[in-house]
Amino acid sequence: MLNLVLFGPPGAGKGTQSEKLIDKYQLVHLSTGDLLRSQIAAQTELGLRAKALMDQGVLVPDEVVIGMIDSKLRENQAAAGFIFDGFPRTVRQAEALDDLLSQYNEQITVMVALEVDQEELTKRLLLRGQSSGRPDDQNEELIRRRVSEYNEKTTPVAGYYQQQGKYVGINGIGDIEDIFQTISNEIEKRHS
Ligand code: ADP
Repeated sequence: MLNLVLFGPPGAGKGTQSEKLIDKYQLVHLSTGDLLRSQIAAQTELGLRAKALMDQGVLVPDEVVIGMIDSKLRENQAAAGFIFDGFPRTVRQAEALDDLLSQYNEQITVMVALEVDQEELTKRLLLRGQSSGRPDDQNEELIRRRVSEYNEKTTPVAGYYQQQGKYVGINGIGDIEDIFQTISNEIEKRHS
């Protein structure tokens, strides 16, 4: 199995690169942001609770996202692999993911981190907000809050994978196809 963690701040291009990687490697896409937004759309109790936090730009509790990932792994046991997008966002989530995968004798193959500076991120998110309708992309204050949550709680996740020798940093500014090629090369070094 190819199990890829796609890492990077909001607006780094995880969604764009995910789509291309899914096509190329036939992976199941697990985006906790998308899973949470579908709970909101379905107006479930979990969705209502998550919305209150997402509207403030802060993370939802670890147990909530870990539970969602657990059930998706269970539902997709025949998959060629997974792409984890927007997850794990805390070290606790990263540890839980390792535990979940080990139940299937699986592990993370590589973590690919897209690196993009703050100024470019804000520009991209505001632009996305004009068409996506995502409320958290339409307000500069909220964007700053999400990036600071990322810096504080999510950056340590890179260190977690670095310790396992699984971290690869990639420049997320430039041509989409070039970035995709670089990611593909890194994957193929580790997965045959
Ligand atoms: P982005 O990376 O552009 O901020 P996402 O769609 O990944 O967008 O996430 C949107 C919001 O959903 C986050 O700001 C957070 O509130 C919540 N969220 C998504 N994934 C997680 C996660 N793994 N842990 C906690 N909260 C999450």
